[in-house]
Amino acid sequence: MTSDMLMTDKDKILVEKVRNFVSAIPKQLLLDMDEDKVKYPKEFLQEAGRRDLLGLRFDSKWGGKGASWKSELLALEEIGVLGTSLGCLYSLVSIVGEAIHKFGTDRQKEKYLKPMIQGRIGAAEGLTEPRGGSDFFGATTTAKRKGDIFYLTGQKRFVVGAEGADIILVYAKVDGISDPKKAITAFLVERGPGVEVEHLYGLMGTRGGGTGRLVFNKMPVPVENVLGGEAGIGNGAKVFHQMMIPERMTSAGAAVGMGRAAIQIAADYANKRKAFGKKIRSYEAVSFKISDSLTFLDASRGINYMAGKAADMNLPGGTVRRLVSEAKKFSTDAAWKVVNNAMQIMGGIGYTNIYPIERLLRDTRLITIWTGTNEIMDLVIQHEFYKEFLSNPHKGRDIEKDAAGAEFSDEKVYDD
Ligand SMILES: Cc1cc2nc3c(=O)[nH]c(=O)nc-3n(C[C@H](O)[C@H](O)[C@H](O)COP(=O)(O)OP(=O)(O)OC[C@H]3O[C@@H](n4cnc5c(N)ncnc54)[C@H](O)[C@@H]3O)c2cc1C
Repeated sequence: MTSDMLMTDKDKILVEKVRNFVSAIPKQLLLDMDEDKVKYPKEFLQEAGRRDLLGLRFDSKWGGKGASWKSELLALEEIGVLGTSLGCLYSLVSIVGEAIHKFGTDRQKEKYLKPMIQGRIGAAEGLTEPRGGSDFFGATTTAKRKGDIFYLTGQKRFVVGAEGADIILVYAKVDGISDPKKAITAFLVERGPGVEVEHLYGLMGTRGGGTGRLVFNKMPVPVENVLGGEAGIGNGAKVFHQMMIPERMTSAGAAVGMGRAAIQIAADYANKRKAFGKKIRSYEAVSFKISDSLTFLDASRGINYMAGKAADMNLPGGTVRRLVSEAKKFSTDAAWKVVNNAMQIMGGIGYTNIYPIERLLRDTRLITIWTGTNEIMDLVIQHEFYKEFLSNPHKGRDIEKDAAGAEFSDEKVYDD
């Protein structure tokens, strides 16, 4: 692939390591996960940790590599070929890890971040509630304080790893604070008797990750497990905005891998399969689907690297939010198109389990929905754009004046 040629030597070493890891994942694990025979493949995380492939962007003090987003995106593209479940388990170290790395106390980093990066404990995140996921600040899970203990009551829906993760980052509103942005707080909840998995979902794809509904009924969580400790109470909005960077970037990065996997299978098929006496790739209707798909994947890489660079450079929050949302929306929509193209190229056999395209298609359908739907990405993109656009006067040439009738101000009526 062309993108391989643009890598630095360091990138190439990382990608080679990730490819070796990905190649070593037993096929049977993927099949068992897809049949829901596996609830939570801990051994996947353990092996990734043993190979030093988790939490790449974090400080070496906690076991990370201090790597850039570009490195993590390269790794995610490779992991993505395994599908959404393993991609998500891999990404949760980056997502929950980001919150702990940025806002956690040293004790929390020692206790949770380090072993997460080593692959010894698995992490999950509980944001979505049965009531809804898009309206994050409408959360109804509450945390009532008595002395040094918070008691969590509420439900979180669709939590990947509900069944097996050791630590769950749960957002809840501190009782008695009416402003949701000041009440929302992130808690590090350890799996224990109070963590009840009430339901495991029958999913279209993305199986085997233990996605379930968690119910908390006055679940005690010590103040020291508020993310950031005492100082972290009411800090949930900041944590959320920071966490949404890896939440959405990981979806975008792994999407490229899923699309790439599907189109490579289809391109190979089109080079072998014949119809009307000719290889099907000699028909434009087939080969142009490959052209379109390659273009979508390269464009995804481009937008993802740009958003990653903006995050690495700590550009203003609104700009990063817009670019990350654009990357998530574009790359996940692109992957969905690419996997559909692959299925179309392969005809009927693509719809069967003779090839893994149908599994990739079921997996890819989710990524335009989770980590914030692509409609919510649109909401963020235009919101952040207008904030920036309206506060910055136009720069450079005033193109609006380059019209013959530009001076007819009577025709420029804006009020109704
Ligand atoms: C397999 C799976 C795994 C998941 N993993 C996790 C996880 O680990 N942790 C977690 O917390 N969540 C997880 N989710 C939840 C996921 O992020 C949510 O499903 C998603 O954010 C959408 O929330 P919702 O399903 O409640 O839909 P709703 O918020 O009810 O939205 C329904 C529809 O309305 C649209 N909509 C809502 N508001 C607006 C608006 N203002 N403007 C335009 N359109 C709007 C949405 O785009 C959508 O089309 C997972 C979901 C699935 C299916």
